[in-house]
Amino acid sequence: MAGTDDKNTKTLREVWRRAENALCADCEKPDPDWASYTLGVFICLNCSGIHRNIPNISKVKSLRMDHWDEVQVQFLEQHGNAVAKATYEAHIPIYYYQPTYADCQALREQWIRAKYERKEFTEPGRELPYSNGLKEGILWKRGRDNGQFLPRRFLLSEREGCLKYFAKPDAKEPKINIKIDTINATFQPVKIRNPNGLQISYLKDNKTRNIFLYHEDGKEIVDWFNAIRAVQFHYLKVAFPIAGDSEIKSRLMQNFLKEGYMEKTGPKQREAFKKRWFTLDRRRLMYFKDPLDAFAKGEVFVGSRKQGYSVNPGLPPGTQGSFSWQYGLTIVTPDREYLFTCETESDQQDWIVAFSQVIEQPMTPQEYAIEAYFKLSS
Ligand SMILES: [Zn+2]
Repeated sequence: MAGTDDKNTKTLREVWRRAENALCADCEKPDPDWASYTLGVFICLNCSGIHRNIPNISKVKSLRMDHWDEVQVQFLEQHGNAVAKATYEAHIPIYYYQPTYADCQALREQWIRAKYERKEFTEPGRELPYSNGLKEGILWKRGRDNGQFLPRRFLLSEREGCLKYFAKPDAKEPKINIKIDTINATFQPVKIRNPNGLQISYLKDNKTRNIFLYHEDGKEIVDWFNAIRAVQFHYLKVAFPIAGDSEIKSRLMQNFLKEGYMEKTGPKQREAFKKRWFTLDRRRLMYFKDPLDAFAKGEVFVGSRKQGYSVNPGLPPGTQGSFSWQYGLTIVTPDREYLFTCETESDQQDWIVAFSQVIEQPMTPQEYAIEAYFKLSS
């Protein structure tokens, strides 16, 4: 049977090499080397691990190491990533967040389960747990002072355009009422030390505040995440009636561009540098004493090159403040220079890339308004 085997292997390689199968069907990682022979998709090693958890739906094998029989190869030949996409991703709501390999496990797992197990996107107009503009339930919220997580009742309402939470289950008045258009939600499993950890950042009086949440159930926290995106999308549709769907989508909440520790000095540039946690959220650079602080200690607006903003490697000559990290970088704004140091050269490079990304982009009218607000309040 060597002849059949050879032919089989040859066919498998040909199908595998098709352009449509060059990226993982689920997370877009290049060069997938696993496949599901019940769904007919080519996937990466990481996603194959998630598929293994839904064995009634998906059966996976390594394309390099496992033996493939003729029926399985034929199935792959007749399906593949494009066919699967046309079926399982036919009707994804525009606001739904489609994770990539850079995203956390909870997001990737629920995306895979939503597609193949729950078949959320195979038919148009399906009522989904995050699609009707209203969500209520208990989430564990980190206490600002003691860092303890406690159950809190949350309510998301499209009609009211807000997300609120209540300190007591039967409370009438919310502890906090967050306007939907000021929210940014990002999964932060490492920082929160929970695989389903979600950070919600929002603005109050143009200052950033953070709350840290989780839910034991991965599906529930990802549903909350997409429910917030849905409400935000519909809110922005009303606020900007002439904007197209893809433009609205680009204004929806986004992952932070970069986070991590740097050292910074004060405005006189003579003070000793202090280690702080920095978050770059679009054009907003915030710093915190601790990554889980509720309030930023300070915020800097990062505009565009045309408006006089730039980022340079190194510190200006004659910098006086003492610092322990050697890899400096300087952000120049129309008003002053901000001096930072990074622990490693690769970290310095990553920050420069992140800042450049923002600076090289022209500012939108909304961003001019934010810049003006920053100038007013500084
Ligand atoms: Zn993948």
